[in-house]
Amino acid sequence: MELSIASIERWLRTEDELELQDLWLKANKVRQTEVGEEVHLRGLIEISNYCSRQCGYCGINVSNSKIIRYRMSKTEIIECAHKAKKFGYGTIVLQSGEDYGIAQKEIVKIIRQIKHETDLAITLSLGERSFADLLAFKKAGADRYLIRFETSDKKLFHKIHPPLQNKLSDRIKILYELRSLGYEIGSGVMIGIPGQTYKSLAEDINLFRVLDLDMIGVGPYILHPETDLAKEYKKPINVDQVPNSESMTYKVLALTRLVCPTANIPSTTALATLNKKNGRELGLSRGANVIMPNITPLKYRVNYEIYPNKACLFENAEDCNCCIKNRIEIIGRKVGKGKGERKSHLKISSN
Ligand code: SAH
Repeated sequence: MELSIASIERWLRTEDELELQDLWLKANKVRQTEVGEEVHLRGLIEISNYCSRQCGYCGINVSNSKIIRYRMSKTEIIECAHKAKKFGYGTIVLQSGEDYGIAQKEIVKIIRQIKHETDLAITLSLGERSFADLLAFKKAGADRYLIRFETSDKKLFHKIHPPLQNKLSDRIKILYELRSLGYEIGSGVMIGIPGQTYKSLAEDINLFRVLDLDMIGVGPYILHPETDLAKEYKKPINVDQVPNSESMTYKVLALTRLVCPTANIPSTTALATLNKKNGRELGLSRGANVIMPNITPLKYRVNYEIYPNKACLFENAEDCNCCIKNRIEIIGRKVGKGKGERKSHLKISSN
């Protein structure tokens, strides 16, 4: 749908219940006609919480000495992949801090072995790796890459995501590189970062469209005490400040679906963290069509603390699997089959 940046901003600012009902219905309708009733499941494996970065929002930043650092072994990662396969998931997501302690060749070996032993699609979310690394991972069989640009406000981005060895990050450039290598590309933002304005959030949503993203992850910013942003945090007083609320997250989800009708859009764990009762379901009925159940072994999961009080933190992979499938079926949707890649040019019937 053609929505100008100004009209996206107007929607983001609306508090009118009737207008919002209309927005949810529109987004749900577009979701239904463009990507159908299937909810695709991606098994999330948090392979390492080592990170070389000092991101102002993230709890696993290099300066946080209160968490125990871990790196999963290749055998453990492969075991998780088999578990995902057993649950019927079509995709696994290997996510980590920006951990240069895992060498290119290690990741290549892991990708090759998973591809050899299963037919799973592999999504990587390893931060800002070099072009040579991204090329090697693709050649080894990786299918997709997630890297959120976090905010399109460059000044805010560089503040919350400081340079590494004096080199400013350019995540948009990386997204173009990934696309040129043949990856399906995913990006997204946090909602309600201190300093984020309505106008810049509207621009973020427009940028999703410009980049023609295959996957778009959006979730509320959740304050982590062991971060630079927490240290300077004051209650927002600026009228232009976007709140990091549940309702703002639904607005962004719904508008994202309208602007990017065929993208794969998860109902995120960060959203479920704000509403553990039915945040996932509301996300699915306001534009989302993907869920990423966590299959990281429990002993590691508690230390992948990018933000506190994460939903599903103490549920093992088996329980998460049952719970999420139940939630999907109760709201009348179907558990997705196959890899759930983006179907850009295919219209799916809604029955
Ligand atoms: N190191 C990888 C993966 C980071 S975790 C990378 O930088 O791409 C994945 C996403 O979690 C981040 O991109 C960010 O958008 C989100 N995230 C991190 N800290 C968060 C917080 N405190 N609240 C909400 N989301 C957060």
